[in-house]
Amino acid sequence: MSDIALVWLRRDLRLFDHAALHHALRRHDRVVPVFIFDTDLLDTLPRSDRRVEFNWESVAELKRALQQRGADLVVRHGSARALLPQLASEFSAAAIYANHDDDPFARERDAVVARSIAAQGRALNSFKDHVIFERDEVLTQAGGMYSVFTPYKRAWLAQLNDFYLKSYPVARYADHYAQLPCEPMPTLEALGFVRSNLATLRLPTGMAGGEALFADFQERIERYHEARDYPAVKGPSYLSTHLRFGTVSIRELARFAWQHGGAGAQTWLAELCWRDFYHQILYHRPDVVAHAFKPEYDALPFPNREDWFAAWCEGRTGYPIVDAAMRQLNQTGYMHNRLRMLAASFLVKDLLIDWRWGERYFATQLLDFDLAANNGGWQWAASTGCDAQPYFRIFNPVTQSERFDAEARFIKRYCPELAALPAKLAHAPWRARPIDLAAAGVVLGRDYPEPIVDHAVQRELALALFQRP
Ligand SMILES: Cc1cc2nc3c(=O)[nH]c(=O)nc-3n(C[C@H](O)[C@H](O)[C@H](O)COP(=O)(O)OP(=O)(O)OC[C@H]3O[C@@H](n4cnc5c(N)ncnc54)[C@H](O)[C@@H]3O)c2cc1C
Repeated sequence: MSDIALVWLRRDLRLFDHAALHHALRRHDRVVPVFIFDTDLLDTLPRSDRRVEFNWESVAELKRALQQRGADLVVRHGSARALLPQLASEFSAAAIYANHDDDPFARERDAVVARSIAAQGRALNSFKDHVIFERDEVLTQAGGMYSVFTPYKRAWLAQLNDFYLKSYPVARYADHYAQLPCEPMPTLEALGFVRSNLATLRLPTGMAGGEALFADFQERIERYHEARDYPAVKGPSYLSTHLRFGTVSIRELARFAWQHGGAGAQTWLAELCWRDFYHQILYHRPDVVAHAFKPEYDALPFPNREDWFAAWCEGRTGYPIVDAAMRQLNQTGYMHNRLRMLAASFLVKDLLIDWRWGERYFATQLLDFDLAANNGGWQWAASTGCDAQPYFRIFNPVTQSERFDAEARFIKRYCPELAALPAKLAHAPWRARPIDLAAAGVVLGRDYPEPIVDHAVQRELALALFQRP
C-alpha cells in the first residue's frame, strides 16, 4: 500500500497543535497538505469579501511556511467534492485526513467525499480539533444534549483536564511532509475576487496574526471581566476570526485561561465554553439553521418592514448606539459582543423583523461568521433559542447606551455627525433641546436621522407579538 496521505485543511489553517496533521504525519511517511478554494461556497459570495481575503492571506502564509521546509501546500480552485477524489488518485494517497467540521453544509460535503474515496478504496479519517468538547462528549445524566448553558458549563468544566487541553504536536514529525516541487498559489483575482478593505483593518492574518493578537490579549486577560462590556474599550481578545479559521489553537487558548485561573481568565474561559455549547447545539439540532429552537416561536407573525430593515442594515435607525454598531460591522466586519446582543434585540423587538433576516445579514458581514455562534446568538437575542433571553426582557437601546458607552466615545467614532453633541445627549439626540442641537450643528433628519420607531410603543407591540402563540 502507498504510504502517502493527504491532509485536507479547512477551518484549521495552522501548522501547530493540529489533530489531523499530527495523526497523518505520525502514521505516514509522506504527507501532502491540501487546501481547496471551494467553488460550492465561494460562488455564493460577493466578489469583494473580507473573509475570502483573510482566508487567502492565511493560506498563502501556510504555503510559504511549508515551502521553507522543502514541502508545499497543494492549492486548488473548484468543487471540493470533485477535487478531493481526483487529488487522492493523483498522489496515490492511502487516505485523506481532516478535522471535523460540523456545519450541516460541511457534514454533507464530507459525506460525499468520504463515499467517493471509499469507492476508490480510501478512507477519510477525521478528528476533533475545532472545539474542546464536541458532539456527544458532554451530555446530561440522561444521555441527552444540554440545552441550558449553566449546567452545560458546569459539566464542561468538570470534564476539563490536561488530556483535553494537550497539544497535538506537529513540528517533531515535520520530516514526514512530502518534498514537492513548489507550485504557485492562485491569486485572489484568479479566484474571481477583488481586494476588500481588510488591509486597512487592525486584524493581522494567518498564524502570525493569531499569535500576535493572543500575545496582546494575554497582557489584558486579567481585566477581561471588567472591560469586556464596553465597546469603546479594548476589552475582548478580538480572536474570533482566528478561531473561525483555525489560525489559533482552541486548546492553546483554553489551556492558557485554565492555568491562569484569575477572574478575567475564568470569564474568558466561559466564553470559549459558549462556543462549544453552540457547536454541540448545531450538531444535535441542525434544523436550527432554518427554524426556531423552540418550535412555538417558529412562525411568529413579524411584520418585516423592508424599509426599516434597510435602515438597520445601513446604520440609520436614529438610535445612535444601534447605528454605530451597524456601521462598525459594515466598515470593519467586527461588532462588539454587547452590541451584537443589542443590535439583534433592536431588530427583532423594536423593528419587529424576523431574526432570520438579521442572522443572514450578519452572516454576510462578519469576518468571524460562524454558523453555530451566529445562529445561537441570534436565537438568544430573539428569545427563540435554547437558554435564550426571555421574550419579555427587552433591551432599552438608550439606557444600554448610557450604561455601556457613557461618554459616547463609541457612538462618536462611528457616527461622527454627532461628535459635537455633549455625551449625555448623544444617546438620544431627539430628546435634546433645539438650542443644544443647533450648538452642535446637528439638524435631525438632515445630518442624522430622526428615530424610525418609538421604543416604548414597539416594546408593547413586541410583547403582544410574542404572547400570540
Ligand atoms: C447576535 C449575535 C451574533 C453572533 N455571531 C457570532 C459569529 O458569527 N461568530 C462568532 O464567533 N461569534 C458570534 N457571536 C458571539 C460573540 O459576539 C463573538 O464571538 C465575540 O464578540 C467575538 O469577539 P472576541 O473574539 O473579541 O470575543 P471574546 O470576548 O474575546 O471571546 C473569546 C471567544 O469566545 C467565543 N465567544 C464569545 N462569546 C461567544 C458567544 N456568545 N457565543 C459563542 N462563542 C462566543 C468566540 O469564539 C470569541 O472569539 C455572536 C453573538 C451575538 C449576540
